[in-house]
Amino acid sequence: MSHTYKCSFKECSSELITFNKKDFNAEKQDITHLNKAFIEKYKLFTKSQDLNATDDIEFLVTDSFWEFDNIGVSRSIETLKLEDHTQYKVTFNKAEYLLKSAKKYLICGDCDKGPLGLIVDVEEIANPSNKRELCLLSTASVV
Ligand SMILES: [Zn+2]
Repeated sequence: MSHTYKCSFKECSSELITFNKKDFNAEKQDITHLNKAFIEKYKLFTKSQDLNATDDIEFLVTDSFWEFDNIGVSRSIETLKLEDHTQYKVTFNKAEYLLKSAKKYLICGDCDKGPLGLIVDVEEIANPSNKRELCLLSTASVV
């Protein structure tokens, strides 16, 4: 099962990434879920206006932005630290991570629109010394 996520802006439709669960590369891609509050907090672009507060939004998680075929990365967004003590959890490659801060926005590599996702700093829950970076692409932002 594979799916190619494309930019949802009409005149663009640029292919951003192909997700393939069965691929040899699977340990570099995963799916996780975050709620609508997360989308609102970071003002991520969404195709539909009628998401419910309780809706789980699917995010494609990647090891790094090099997994994308075509993506743009914003400048650092130092101001977007998580200050409300909401504990957002992300699963990646069978491990659970706590979101510590958001660093950069992901935008379309062709039309520069978005934001479609984030680059975040995370900490593994079972092993807090494992701090790393992950990319989150909101599937509610793309087609
Ligand atoms: Zn685009």
